[in-house]
Amino acid sequence: MRILVISDIHANLTALEAVLAHAGEVDETWCLGDVVGYGPDSNECVERVRNLPNLTCLMGNHDAASLGYIDLRTFNREARLSLQAIRRALSNENLEFLGSLPQKLVVRDVTIAHGSPRNPVWEYILDTFTAVDNFNHFEGAYCLVGHTHVPVAFYYPKESRTLSWKLIEPGKRLPLNGRMILNPGSVGQPRDHDPRAAYAVISPDEHYWESFRVEYDISSVQQRILAQGLPERHAVRLAEGW
Ligand code: ZN
Repeated sequence: MRILVISDIHANLTALEAVLAHAGEVDETWCLGDVVGYGPDSNECVERVRNLPNLTCLMGNHDAASLGYIDLRTFNREARLSLQAIRRALSNENLEFLGSLPQKLVVRDVTIAHGSPRNPVWEYILDTFTAVDNFNHFEGAYCLVGHTHVPVAFYYPKESRTLSWKLIEPGKRLPLNGRMILNPGSVGQPRDHDPRAAYAVISPDEHYWESFRVEYDISSVQQRILAQGLPERHAVRLAEGW
């Protein structure tokens, strides 16, 4: 069984289409949230995601904010500007879909959350200190999170009680063993200085995780960002992966 794991699409339809084409046929898709925010294609991305077959989708902080669930003052000025534009752009069906999303789920014995199992919408797991605590907040062996936009694995090396982490090399299968927290990276706004769209495939029955990077037409997305009057920074960062 191949399950496509995507996160942090951030209204970048070109990156999303590139990922879906590259991944090919999958049995299920798990989307870890932040379908909207920053990018130019909010409506299109929500539409595309909600129509994917066998979809499980979570709510991210940008999704929650675009619904008005979170005080916009907690976002920086640029994020706030785009969130206000999104609210105006989303169709009723798409708003309804985002509003129906859960914050945390257990699917096939795997816990999934946007940020962390402890604080699903908000917490960033960026270091081993935060990760260690979060291992106490999920049952089962594996937890998948997004939110940081960095493809990373937190894991206990064999016979070690000290948590370790590593950036996941694309195209290389990572065997699943012990307990792990895994992040597929971001489809629409990578922040590990590799501008290519990131995603992963998990196979719980064959016990592997595989990360991928895909090139896409960044300049076309930048043009749409600028044409919509969204902050220029959102366009610039796509080409540099931050
Ligand atoms: Zn995000």
